[in-house]
Amino acid sequence: KGLGKNTWSVYDPERDRSEAVAERLSWGDRIRMALEQDLLLLHYQGVYDAASGELVHMEALARIRDPRDLERILMPGQFVPIAEKTGLILALDRRVLELGIAQLADNPDMPPLAVNISGRSFDDPALADAIRELIARHRVDPSRLIIELTETAAVSEIQEAQRFIESMHRLGCKVCLDDFGAGFSSFAYLKYIDVDMLKIDGMFVRDLTRDRENQVFVRAMVDVAKGLGKRTVAEFVEDAATLEMLNTLGVDMAQGYHLHRPGPHLLQKSA
Ligand code: C2E
Ligand code: MG
Ligand code: MG
Ligand code: MG
Repeated sequence: KGLGKNTWSVYDPERDRSEAVAERLSWGDRIRMALEQDLLLLHYQGVYDAASGELVHMEALARIRDPRDLERILMPGQFVPIAEKTGLILALDRRVLELGIAQLADNPDMPPLAVNISGRSFDDPALADAIRELIARHRVDPSRLIIELTETAAVSEIQEAQRFIESMHRLGCKVCLDDFGAGFSSFAYLKYIDVDMLKIDGMFVRDLTRDRENQVFVRAMVDVAKGLGKRTVAEFVEDAATLEMLNTLGVDMAQGYHLHRPGPHLLQKSA
């Protein structure tokens, strides 16, 4: 009755019970179990030179096998916000770094790998030491590791971000500012944050060929990046026309379903 006019439902005790069980295993529990039971895995997406189409590096994207149903793969949109809220993101990001650096060590011919780091994680002064230790233990050339920081996080913790970026540079790693343009005051804090790459947020890349405002924004971001000596990447490149326009606008690298869909396999540089 509470559902209003023209709606009805049949009470199904079986469905009620299974939902109650699923409910009892909270997202926090699932993430914790996944970390304990080694259910975290990486998918990879290629990042390509926008002009030549050559593979330049890959991005590692975290996935979790559902502890209750190992066939089911959980996506970051489902678990990253909860991991950030519960503090589990620190362990999650470290595990991703460990898996990624081990892959680099096992595959000397693979291109550099970019790993996403939450603002919650680089707040932790021990993170830089942990990365240094992992690189040393696996004997990996640090220039093969790219750290991606999300913009919104970097803005709120500008001093922590600065300190973390400096220690990554001392170590010899590259740093990319992810989701560039999606936060407020994007240009202003480039004065304080010295990254090597800007990844233009997908919101500006979608509809690029039809949306004149987005063209203006991308051109401005490329201009600023060039003036500051930084490289640009565009994410969410979903068709050939967008890739061509990005090229015309002077964007250096491109990533998206048109070029490669994320998957469990490593990509190799073509000879
Ligand atoms: P992101 O770093 O901006 O990664 C890009 C996301 O867009 C990925 O989603 C990717 O699969 C998706 N994508 C790539 N190309 C296209 C395209 O052409 N069209 C569309 N519609 N989507 C595309 P995913 O894997 O679900 O990751 C979502 C976000 O979760 C990431 O955004 C990143 O912020 C976060 N994330 C992923 N892995 C990690 C991690 O290990 N640690 C942390 N802290 N965050 C992570
Ligand atoms: Mg990223
Ligand atoms: Mg991004
Ligand atoms: Mg994004």
